[in-house]
Amino acid sequence: MTPPVSLLDLTREQLADLLAGWGQPCFRADQVWDWLYRKLAAEPGEMTNLPKELRERLAAETRCSPLERIYEQRSGDGQTLKWLFRLPDGLTIETVLMLYDDVTGAGRERRTVCISTQAGCAMGCVFCATGQAGLARNLTAGEIVAQVLAAARWLANSESANGESANQRISYQLSAISHLTNIVVMGMGEPMANYDRTWAALRTITDPDAFGLGARHITVSTVGLPQGIRKMATEPLQINLAVSLHAPNDALRSKLLPVNQRYPIAEVMLAIREYIAATNRRVTFEYAMMAGINDTPELAVELAALLRPLRSPTGGMMCHVNLIPLNPVAESPYQPSTPQAAARFQQILEQGGIPSTVRMRRGIDIDAGCGQLRRRVGDGTERR
Ligand code: SF4
Repeated sequence: MTPPVSLLDLTREQLADLLAGWGQPCFRADQVWDWLYRKLAAEPGEMTNLPKELRERLAAETRCSPLERIYEQRSGDGQTLKWLFRLPDGLTIETVLMLYDDVTGAGRERRTVCISTQAGCAMGCVFCATGQAGLARNLTAGEIVAQVLAAARWLANSESANGESANQRISYQLSAISHLTNIVVMGMGEPMANYDRTWAALRTITDPDAFGLGARHITVSTVGLPQGIRKMATEPLQINLAVSLHAPNDALRSKLLPVNQRYPIAEVMLAIREYIAATNRRVTFEYAMMAGINDTPELAVELAALLRPLRSPTGGMMCHVNLIPLNPVAESPYQPSTPQAAARFQQILEQGGIPSTVRMRRGIDIDAGCGQLRRRVGDGTERR
C-alpha cells in the first residue's frame, strides 16, 4: 500500500501540483495551506470550506500531522509541558512548551516551544540523555514544523477550553499564532547536521502566508559546527544563533562534547567571528553549569578572555552568555552547579565585560532535559 502523503512535507507548489493532479481548481491549494498553517487544522474533517469528497480523499491519501502524542508531562507549577511524539516509523521525539508569565507588567508574557530536529543525536555530549542514545535519523521538514503546530494548537485549545463556541474556538486558533511567541531549536538533535530540512521548516514557520512567526523570535542552537554557522550567515532570515560552549578550553570541552575533537574552539570561534562580521548580529553562548566540572572562578576568567574579542567595529560586545544550571540525567556524575557557584561565575564574567544571565531551569520535576523523557518512557508503550 502507498504510504499517505505527508502534507506538511510539501511546499506550497507541491501541494498545488498534488491537488491539480486530483482535478481541483488552483485556489484549493491556498485553502488547504491556510487550514494547515493558520487555522491549525489537525485533520481534513476540520477543513469545512472544502467539498466533502475532497476532505474524504485527503483523509484517505494524506496525513495532516506526522506526530502522535503518546505521553505528556506537566511540571508542578504547570508552566512547562513536555510531550513525547511518535513518528510514523515508530521512533519518538520530544517537544517542550514553556509558559512564561509577564512578571514585569510590560506585556512580556512568552510562550516558547523547544523543538527537535533529529530522532536522537550523533554528537554524544556526555551530560545529555539524547546524546547517549545516538542518532536514529534526521527529521523531515514536516516533522519539525508539526511540533510548532502542535504547540500552537495546544495553546489555542487551552484558551478555548472554557466553554466557548466552535466559532470562538476557530477565532482563537486564528490568533494562536500570536500566542506562540518564540521558538528555540534546542531539542533533540543537532540542527546544523540536518541543515536543509531545518531551514525548510523555518522558512515555512516564518512564511507570512503560513505560520508567520517573525524570524527574530526564533533561535537555532548548535554545538558549533563551523560549516553550519557559515551557511547560516548567508541566510536571509534573521534567525538568532546560539552556540553551546560549556567550556572555555579544548581540554575540558573535548571531555564534555566529543565533537570538539573534530572542531576545536579556535575553529568554532573563527566561524562565529565571520558570522558576526557578515550579519552584525549578536551570538548567544549556552553554558550548562555542572558542579565542580566547569563552574570554577578560573574557568570564568578564561571564558571572559575567550569572548572579549567578539566586538562590533564600533566596539559593542556582540555576545551574551546564558548560564544554565544543568538539568541532571539520572545516575549521571554531572550535577547542576549551586546557585552560589553560578552567581560567582556570572560576577566574574560581568567584571570581564561579558554580558550574561543565569537562566532558570525549566521543568526540573518533569525530565525536561533533552532526551530524558524518551529515555524513561522508552518507545512510548507505557502510554498515559
Ligand atoms: S546536547 Fe544537543 S548536541 Fe549534545 S548530544 Fe544532546 S541533543 Fe545532541
